[in-house]
Amino acid sequence: MKVGHMSSSESKSCVVCGKKTAHYKVHEQSGMDVTIPLCDDMNRPSCYSQVDVKKMAARFLTDVKKEIQYQHIIANKKEA
Ligand SMILES: [Zn+2]
Repeated sequence: MKVGHMSSSESKSCVVCGKKTAHYKVHEQSGMDVTIPLCDDMNRPSCYSQVDVKKMAARFLTDVKKEIQYQHIIANKKEA
């Protein structure tokens, strides 16, 4: 898993609490990756440290993959 820091102009809303943040984690699976903005407050437990990104992203990417496969099947049916 990669972690990073965006420039302040690229800051996004934390997926947990909605606070603007420049911190993010990236989870890569099956050649796809998902970037998850999570706020990081050095003074107290943050969304960044609390959230299990691997679990969250793995679930998200599994759903995306299912949807891709479903659309692929539908597309093939139309051609047949
Ligand atoms: Zn947050």
